[in-house]
Parts: sequence; structure tokens; C-alpha cells
Amino acid sequence: MRTAVLTGPGRFEIEDAPVPRPGPDDLLVAVAACGVCASELEAWTGRSSPDYPLRLGHEVSGTVSAVGDRVQGFSVGDPVGVWVTERGFSEHVVVPASAAFPAGHVRLDTVLAEPLACAVNAVDLADVRLGDDVVLIGAGFMGHLAQQLVALRGPRQVIVADTRRDALDRAGALGATRTVHVGEERLPDVVAELTDGRMADVTFECTGTPAALQTLGEVTRMSGKLVLVGFHQGPPRPVPLGYWNWMAYDLRNAHFRDVPTILAGMRTGLRLLCAGVLDLGRHVTHRFELADIAEAFDTAVAKPEGFVKATVVVDHPHAG
Ligand SMILES: [Zn+2]
Repeated sequence: MRTAVLTGPGRFEIEDAPVPRPGPDDLLVAVAACGVCASELEAWTGRSSPDYPLRLGHEVSGTVSAVGDRVQGFSVGDPVGVWVTERGFSEHVVVPASAAFPAGHVRLDTVLAEPLACAVNAVDLADVRLGDDVVLIGAGFMGHLAQQLVALRGPRQVIVADTRRDALDRAGALGATRTVHVGEERLPDVVAELTDGRMADVTFECTGTPAALQTLGEVTRMSGKLVLVGFHQGPPRPVPLGYWNWMAYDLRNAHFRDVPTILAGMRTGLRLLCAGVLDLGRHVTHRFELADIAEAFDTAVAKPEGFVKATVVVDHPHAG
């Protein structure tokens, strides 16, 4: 089978590898699509210096192509979203059956199970309540997902801030009650006006940028919740801890690492997708073949106008 290997910054090679064999509790999954994650871009650009070669890809959907002896509840041909930590940019992956969830009739290139799990877990952790005023900083893919899930919890206002007009237009189309271009308006002023000076009950940081961390507290009420959804790795990032401490903020880090929580979020997310309560179709703006994976990563870095999410679609020319 073909599999993409990142051999150095800006360099993918498509290698030929044996199809992995599922153990008794595993599924072999023919990959339909694997999303390009923002967390993978530093290895691609070389801004971080990981140990190459890397086998990236963890946002996998596909079709069950073999079932381990002890597995129950899955059959060959079942569409699934799965959790893997690597090797998703391949024709096949092996996963424990416990890390696979039915994808129903959802278009497989829009399933994106892993980021959906993250967003579900972030919104559950934030525990948005009926009537809350919510601010989302960042209207990229994760911001959009979080916004859709926040909306399911019945907030009063959903105020979305970003630096890109097209991103804010999409947030508006998803139902934001107010969008704020932070290059044109001061977000704290807008939130103050919309909440009669009370400020937001819950603020989500969905950009992964240091600047957004400074803004979180400026838009949130005393004892409100600050929720970190963005990916904040690399050198230490300063936060105004004195002010956060003074304001008695409830800090919630929504970067989940433990597998049971990830899988629980994935189960919930896939249930919402299959029921049609949630639809990620409009977010997948760029699709690439496995052979063009480099272009997929370049596009995810460049974020051209209208870009939300790139995914690599894996065709199976030899399948019957
Ligand atoms: Zn991801």
C-alpha cells in the first residue's frame, strides 16, 4: 500500500509499505480521507525540529476492510471515523475496534473524527449554560466546530472574533450573533456594549496564538471561564496571570491527552454527525489526492482566502 512519509521539512515521499495486519481486537480500515491538522504544520515547515522521518495523519475516516477474530459489532464495509495517532496518510490503518465509531451515511471526507472529538470535549469541559454570553476568539476550523457545538447548548449570544473577513462571514453564516474584526474594532469594547458591561460568561481561545491569550481575560466577567482550545506548544507563552488570578477566572485547558476522554468525545461527535445534528461538510474547503499531499500542507500553511480545512482523500485503485 502507499503511505506518505515526511522525510524532512517540506518533503513528503510516498512509500510502498505492507498492508498492516489487524490483531484479534483490531480493525483494518481502508482510509477514505485524513485531515491536515494545524498541529502538524510545524513539522512540515521545519519551524520545530522533530526527528524525521515522521508518519503524520491522525484525522482518519474510512471503511472497514478486515475485522479481527474477537471484534463484535463491525463488519467489512462499515464506514467509520477512527482514532489513530499517526500513519493516517496511508491507504490502510489498523486500529483497535474500541477506537472506531460508525460514520453512518456521512460523507467520509467530512467525518474528521479527531478534531471533532477535541471540539466536543472542549465544549463539554466549558460547560456552556443556557443563556450564557460566549466569546470565541478564532474562526478557523476548530473555532467553527466549537461554535457549532456551543450553539447546541443554548447560549444567549455567541460573539466571534478573528482577523480575517472571510472567516467572520463564515462564523456569521454559522449563527454568530455578532462578529468582530479585531483589526477594526476593540473586542473588549464590543463585548462590554453587548453585555451591559458584565462581559462574557465563557471565552474560548481557538487560535493557538500568544496574542489571543492576552485578550481572553479582557472580555470575560469575574469568575467566568477561560477555555484553551488552541494548540500552544513551543517556547513558553506569557499570560497575564496576575489579572486572571485577581478576576478569579476559572481556567480550563481543553487540550486532552488521555485516550478514554478522546474516545468518549469522538463517540459523541460521531453520534451528532450521523444524526445530522452537526455537519462538517462546509468546512472541508480543500481536497487533495495522496500523491499531492505536499500541496495539501502548503495550502494549510498559506490559508488562501476561503480556506478552512484541507483533507487528503485516499483513492483505492485496486479495490474491487
Ligand atoms: Zn488534529
